[in-house]
Amino acid sequence: MKQIAIAIDGPSGAGKSTLARRAAAELSYLYVDTGAIYRSIGYYARKNGINPKNESAVLAALPNIQVELCYGSDGLQHMMLCGQDVTKEIRLPEISLYASAVSAFPGVRAHLLEMQRELARKNSVIMDGRDIGTVVLPDADVKIFLTASPEARASRRCLELTQRGTPEDYDKVLREIEQRDYEDSHRAVAPLRQAEDAVVLDTTNLDFEQSLAALLHIIWERTSK
Ligand code: C5P
Repeated sequence: MKQIAIAIDGPSGAGKSTLARRAAAELSYLYVDTGAIYRSIGYYARKNGINPKNESAVLAALPNIQVELCYGSDGLQHMMLCGQDVTKEIRLPEISLYASAVSAFPGVRAHLLEMQRELARKNSVIMDGRDIGTVVLPDADVKIFLTASPEARASRRCLELTQRGTPEDYDKVLREIEQRDYEDSHRAVAPLRQAEDAVVLDTTNLDFEQSLAALLHIIWERTSK
């Protein structure tokens, strides 16, 4: 049976994970959050006192970093790092900048590429990240570039962090989003950019249900032909 691949890329906080997870559940596809994989590497660096901007130190650690994606009975993706479930820990805001730093190294990206492709060979997937439509799955059946204004993304992130019990200051969150946008789109390897054949979905003025409906509509339109 042919597997379907849906690639969703876009800047941080555009709602990719929440939307992709729900859309995957609706379609019974596997949801793959690739940011969580980079976060696990960033988390390892932080825990082991490795400077995430020191390329040779990060690359030297790679053979010791075993990352695995597991799917619980809840159908949700769990990240295992060297046998330990780090799903919650990798969401802490300070891990975002670590993830962004380590993800800029070509050796790190190459190390994780096959793992991501393998998941799409074996399953119908909705995979989200920064370079899914451009690098990881260039032949994806549907490519979506999901975006929203930095301010809208910062407000949503603040709400999410408050709901998780780890509230943060809006201005700080906005600054971090702008910094990550800059770093993710200006790096030499696999920079965040829209694939030429991607459909842009801007959710600045859409609520969650409207965004989900728009996303499912794009997927349906492109896979029903
Ligand atoms: O999506 P999320 O915010 O969890 O990703 C954390 C960081 O991992 C991003 O800021 C980005 O630098 C990096 N990343 C990446 N390529 C991906 C997914 C995430 O470089 N496919």
